[in-house]
Amino acid sequence: MGLRFHNTLTRTTESFEPLDPERVGIYGCGPTIYGHAHIGNFRTFLFYDLVHRYLEWKGYGVHFVMNFTDVDDKTIRAAREAGVGIAEFTEPFARAVLEEADALGMARFDLYPRATAYVGGMIELIRTLLDRKLAYVTDDGSVFFDISAFPDYGKLSGKDLEQVRTGERVAGDEYGKDDVRDFALWKAVKPEDEEVGAAWDAPWGRGRPGWHLECSVMGLEEVGPTLDLHLGGEDLIFPHHEDEIAQSEGATGRPFARYWLHVKHLRVEGRKMSKSLGNFVTVRELLEEGVSCAAIRHQLMAAQYRRELNFSRAGLEASERAVTRLVDLRDRLRRHPVGEGKAGSGDSSLAAGDAHLAASAERALEGFEVAMDDDLNISGALGAVFNFVTEVNTHLDAHLTVPERERDAALQCLASVDQVLGLLEVADREREVDADLATWVEERIEARAEARRARDWARADAIRDELAERGIVLEDGPDGTRWKRG
Ligand code: AMP
Ligand code: ZN
Repeated sequence: MGLRFHNTLTRTTESFEPLDPERVGIYGCGPTIYGHAHIGNFRTFLFYDLVHRYLEWKGYGVHFVMNFTDVDDKTIRAAREAGVGIAEFTEPFARAVLEEADALGMARFDLYPRATAYVGGMIELIRTLLDRKLAYVTDDGSVFFDISAFPDYGKLSGKDLEQVRTGERVAGDEYGKDDVRDFALWKAVKPEDEEVGAAWDAPWGRGRPGWHLECSVMGLEEVGPTLDLHLGGEDLIFPHHEDEIAQSEGATGRPFARYWLHVKHLRVEGRKMSKSLGNFVTVRELLEEGVSCAAIRHQLMAAQYRRELNFSRAGLEASERAVTRLVDLRDRLRRHPVGEGKAGSGDSSLAAGDAHLAASAERALEGFEVAMDDDLNISGALGAVFNFVTEVNTHLDAHLTVPERERDAALQCLASVDQVLGLLEVADREREVDADLATWVEERIEARAEARRARDWARADAIRDELAERGIVLEDGPDGTRWKRG
């Protein structure tokens, strides 16, 4: 049937037909970099990664852009509290997102535009909207979008135009989801904006862009005029994406995005994640607790994006086991003797040379693709992969040797699905780091033992401190020194 997506815009599941299969244009709303991204954000970003990797796996050329929101109400407020400009304030958070994305095995996107680099384009877009009488300037030099002048307003979120409170305005970036009002394209400058370097000159007065406008302009300039896919978390449908449509289509007269995909919000231990409940978890915190990147990736990715996903400790343990099963199977296949396909003594029903592994691999790849094609049903796709794991293990249990081409077909199947899943990829990288660390620790322990033999206690202590700084704890016992991560 081919690839299908559930399109929020049409409320139906549709065949995916990009404008240009060589360059599928995708824009995903990225993080607001006023603090550390949490694992809920990463559910959404890992979904972007899945879309990115799966489209490439299917043979499409992909041009994927995810922005950084580096100016809005929240960044300005936080930068002021920190007493620095927004550029200096936001930079470390942008770096942290990229580091964590790398750690979780997210393939790099083509571009990570920052809103502040596009203010010129934003002013141009506002000018067009003013010319087209879709926007108006207020006395203080702010500019608002007139939603009553744009009949399509509400088409994404299904908001009833009857609710529209024409002429009533909302200027904040963090307003309620039911406020169907004219929204700010440009906000007249306030002293606090100047304080943190968040003000620009414009023909109607100095000020700064509204948040919705930022994404329209980055999307239009870097991917548009018409995007194939626009992605984001479900909270962005209204007003953020509704407003992006109004501004973009109002200015270009063309459809802004053809397929809109929205990720359901992550829950934590059964509850909505929020700072006030104290269940706000970051990737960094989990890594510090010793959870593996591959397990975090697995857990955040394992449910289809429109389904409920509950992040839990028990789930993380199950994810660790799932990743281990994949890694172990690949190790086992690599080590398993090759030959003519000799059955083990206990199982005479399995003939020598049978084609179990290649046939299993083919079935698994087919099941994987059918599930992924169905609106990126990752849990179905993982189901096909883990059936395969069971089948291969059973086959290897029963066979002392397997034909080389059979074994290779099974290994290729794992490698192929992992181009999308990225689980072996991340686990391999972590194993490499672990092996490097172990070599270094062993070498330091030997140097410390030598220092102690020479009664150079200061040096021995210095080595212990050096290890402690890297989180390594030593335990001296009768059989020598053992170590663990603290
Ligand atoms: P923000 O940094 O709040 O602008 O969010 C960046 C992206 O993460 C947006 O696409 C949000 O919709 C998404 N997001 C925020 N919270 C969650 C959550 N709890 N679960 C999934 N996605 C989220
Ligand atoms: Zn956005």
